[in-house]
Amino acid sequence: MNCLAVDCGEDRLLVDCGLLFPSAEAALGVEVIAPDLTFLSAGPPPRAVLLTHAHEDHVGALPQLLRKFPDIAVVGTRFTLAVVREKLKEHGLAPDLREVAARGSFGLGRIEVEPLQVAHSVPDAVGYALRTPAGIVVHTGDFKVDWSPADGRLLDVGRFAELGKEGVSCLLSDSTNSEVAGSSVSEREVSESLARIMGGPLARGRIVVAMFGSNIHRVHGVVRAAIPLGRKVCLLGRSVQQNVRLALDLGYLDCSPDLFVDPEAADHFAPRELVVLCTGAQGEPRSALSRLALGEHADVRLDPGDLIIFSSRQIPGNERSVGALVNRLVRRGCRVLTAENSSELVHSTGHACQSEQRMMIDLVRPRSFVPIHGEYRMLEAHARLASSAGVDKRGCVLAEDGDVIELGPGAFASKAAERVPSGRLYLDSRGAEVVRGPELHGKGVSGLDERRLAQAAGAAREALSELAAAERTDTASIEEALRRGVRSVWKKGVEKRPMVLPVVIEL
Ligand SMILES: [Zn+2]
Ligand SMILES: [Zn+2]
Repeated sequence: MNCLAVDCGEDRLLVDCGLLFPSAEAALGVEVIAPDLTFLSAGPPPRAVLLTHAHEDHVGALPQLLRKFPDIAVVGTRFTLAVVREKLKEHGLAPDLREVAARGSFGLGRIEVEPLQVAHSVPDAVGYALRTPAGIVVHTGDFKVDWSPADGRLLDVGRFAELGKEGVSCLLSDSTNSEVAGSSVSEREVSESLARIMGGPLARGRIVVAMFGSNIHRVHGVVRAAIPLGRKVCLLGRSVQQNVRLALDLGYLDCSPDLFVDPEAADHFAPRELVVLCTGAQGEPRSALSRLALGEHADVRLDPGDLIIFSSRQIPGNERSVGALVNRLVRRGCRVLTAENSSELVHSTGHACQSEQRMMIDLVRPRSFVPIHGEYRMLEAHARLASSAGVDKRGCVLAEDGDVIELGPGAFASKAAERVPSGRLYLDSRGAEVVRGPELHGKGVSGLDERRLAQAAGAAREALSELAAAERTDTASIEEALRRGVRSVWKKGVEKRPMVLPVVIEL
């Protein structure tokens, strides 16, 4: 649920607007948790939201934000915006997207903004330097220091150091791994290790690699390893398919599209000729990997002797569902490698560990320090690290959701006595569930084009999501919501509204 508001006089901008995923066990019908944005209603409307990278915990709540502020500029790098554009299209939203690149600075009112290149587990991640009348504020976004990243894009050490020399008032830095000593492992080492496993004695049948769909660096490593083994790559799961397609289109994934086979064609290949890349390593019930484990996947069936690699971190809280998933796979006769049971490296974190966090502080040498992105104990550990690196204790501020930090020229950052309203919105999916659609067909409707159809579908979906649980099992209520949603896209009194004939199919 990352979302930071920066106010400078009448200029307000946001950095990220993300979702939180409840652990698989605690879900109980809650699908996602969004930040409560009511505090933004007071004060000036935000000019822009600066996106650091395309992870859901940073961009997932953009639909909620855009419904409140349809005119806000959405600023991000090329890959980030490509992912965001697809997502928002599903919600019927087509916002003002502004592409930026590292080191290309631009003005937003009194604030001069400069994206800073960082390495992370998704392509095109950046932090931001904000030049304000109160001095320079540096926000790292999610980052790690990887000297041999898969895409060759290094953390822009030089630029961070230059800003440090110029004088930085406040550094906000990623605290995820502030309890982990040393440095993170390079993505290149993970790729080499995966290649060894894939070419080794365990890989007798299919190889299935389960991972986060957006980790294009990891996809790259697996694809490179598959080529000399004569294996084709089959992608299962919407997020990995979508991210890989975007990465290929935009040139973030350097390989021939011929290496990939459609899931429907996967059974034309012998097990030894396939690598399956799929999502669902956290034990999510409806994911591709869960369906493979249950033998319920329409296109791919696992056989005894297949090798399954969990190339991801197990998110705390998901231990039981992942354990159950591994049991199911082992029962089918598969060999399962996880970070816990494998002597080879199968995953590396996308976040800086202590030595890298220390390096960031040494480069930027900020007057004040605000640890972000982590649970309270991690923030505290990161603040301690900063003060041991020489940042004055008076300038180390531990802030939680709703806290306000004040920063003036030449002063330490400090926590204001007043807090702003903050909280969590639980978006549930209990009651009836939309399995497919809504699909729209239009005949003889004026002003109907692709964009309008997508908008109408989004509005219909939105109207459905607003129904109370009881209404969702009532066909008449569903039809009424669909009608209302679709018609809302045509302007009242200006355009002729179409007649809407909803068809609801219950399963
Ligand atoms: Zn991230
Ligand atoms: Zn994050």
